Amino acid sequence: MALLEFEKVNKYFGETHVLKDIDLEVDEQEVCVVIGPSGSGKSTLLRCTNRLEEIQSGEIRLDGTPLTDPDADINVLRQRIGMVFQSFNLFPHKTALENVALAPIKVKGLPRDEAHDRANRLLDRVGLAGQTGSYPSQLSGGQQQRVAIARALAMDPQVMLFDEVTSALDPELVGEVLEVMRDLADEGMTMMVVTHEMGFAREVGDTITLMAEGEVVERTPPKQFFEEPTTQRGRQFLSKLL
Ligand code: ADP
Ligand code: MG
Repeated sequence: MALLEFEKVNKYFGETHVLKDIDLEVDEQEVCVVIGPSGSGKSTLLRCTNRLEEIQSGEIRLDGTPLTDPDADINVLRQRIGMVFQSFNLFPHKTALENVALAPIKVKGLPRDEAHDRANRLLDRVGLAGQTGSYPSQLSGGQQQRVAIARALAMDPQVMLFDEVTSALDPELVGEVLEVMRDLADEGMTMMVVTHEMGFAREVGDTITLMAEGEVVERTPPKQFFEEPTTQRGRQFLSKLL
């Protein structure tokens, strides 16, 4: 059984049909890279997965448990699914350490010392051992995004969702964030990654999922996708990258 399953998922914004019968399975430890033109529904797919948006029909399951039941506990499922966005959304008046430790204390009820120990370890893991006391304004965009990743990891999620997490960064800061994501992938984290970084997609992705107009139009291993996409849509998308 796949860890994350999408079955006939449909999402509308008013009259606009944004996700059309999405069927998708993400295996445990898979890095599922999602690409596609702007407006194709990539962000909406991730946002529906942790219930920032509600779907109108179909089902999304994590480890066999439906996430999209109206009575599913949103707080519990958000602990199981970490999400990182293009904008870092750190608390500006809290240090890096406090940003990472906050949810484990407030939501999980972890004792403060334990949460701080954990936060220190996580910040070390994303290469920020020396910045635990810094405020977001004292950190570069790449460092802030790494704090945001550590903060998501602090809840010990089963799956991590990344939505264009390097798109707002200065080019010279992109690599350090991708490096952290690559390490996570190597450690076996199950990930869905929306990205324009085709080098990352090719090297780190286990599968490429191409979306267009609310549909999954191609889902193949990266080598095949980048060498010989199986669909017209895939070929079209690739030709625009060159
Ligand atoms: P992508 O991330 O692939 O660029 P999105 O998931 O953001 O695409 O958007 C898919 C479609 O849904 C677009 O047509 C967009 O305009 C529409 N959309 C996204 N969010 C909203 C919203 N909150 N209200 C209305 N329409 C939205
Ligand atoms: Mg988007």
